[in-house]
Amino acid sequence: MPPLVTEAIVLHAFDYLETSRIIRLMTRDAGIQSVLARGARNSRKRFGNAVDLFAQGTAEIHFRPDRELQSLNALEVTRSRSQMAQDVGRFTAGSMIAELAMRCTSDEPAPGLFDAVEMALDRIVAAAPDDTVDAALSGAWHMVATLGFTPALDLCANCHSSLDPAATVAFSHSAGGAVCASCAAQIRSRRELPRAARTAIRHWIAGGRTPGLTSADARAHQRLLREFFREHLGIDREMQAYRIWEQGAWTAA
Ligand SMILES: [Zn+2]
Repeated sequence: MPPLVTEAIVLHAFDYLETSRIIRLMTRDAGIQSVLARGARNSRKRFGNAVDLFAQGTAEIHFRPDRELQSLNALEVTRSRSQMAQDVGRFTAGSMIAELAMRCTSDEPAPGLFDAVEMALDRIVAAAPDDTVDAALSGAWHMVATLGFTPALDLCANCHSSLDPAATVAFSHSAGGAVCASCAAQIRSRRELPRAARTAIRHWIAGGRTPGLTSADARAHQRLLREFFREHLGIDREMQAYRIWEQGAWTAA
């Protein structure tokens, strides 16, 4: 069987035995794959910085469908994203994106999601330290849209009547987005979504940015996104990287 050659991003990596590393890769053609990089710890020559978190390039995987752990022959790095480690806000944001990607991808090809994760990580790397939360929210909401869970923002998620674009509206995770006043009255669990927050989410879903978030706004958006992911992606295990990212904003405030 010829090796699988595919573009890949390192989402998780840990040392294995004295000499090797086990890596969780997001691949363009085979979804999430766990691979063993044999000798990666004692010979930097073979893998270089390819086995570092957030690195991206062309992976050559010795692939056997009946195996859980595949074998990494090579990873030719095109983007190391080493700047991710230079700022704690960037690093925790990148880890959050990696965690979401691992939770919502299987071993099926997901080229759209691969592009969304790539874009999210590139934006976080390029973000100024003050704007990493915005870059991460933008990347994560764009991933939500790619997965097909775009929340309703302009029409009521329940009855589809149009919503006043300038109004503060109710937002219901279970209904799937913003709801009109009469539908909101029948929904117990909901949040208020002010006009500016609705505009920001609309921008993020479209792949845009909303720099200059206040720390209170950033916190509210982080909470809303966490609840949305839990509701729609059936994520019930603790999202550890997400929690650390969210707490980082508390500390900074
Ligand atoms: Zn309604």
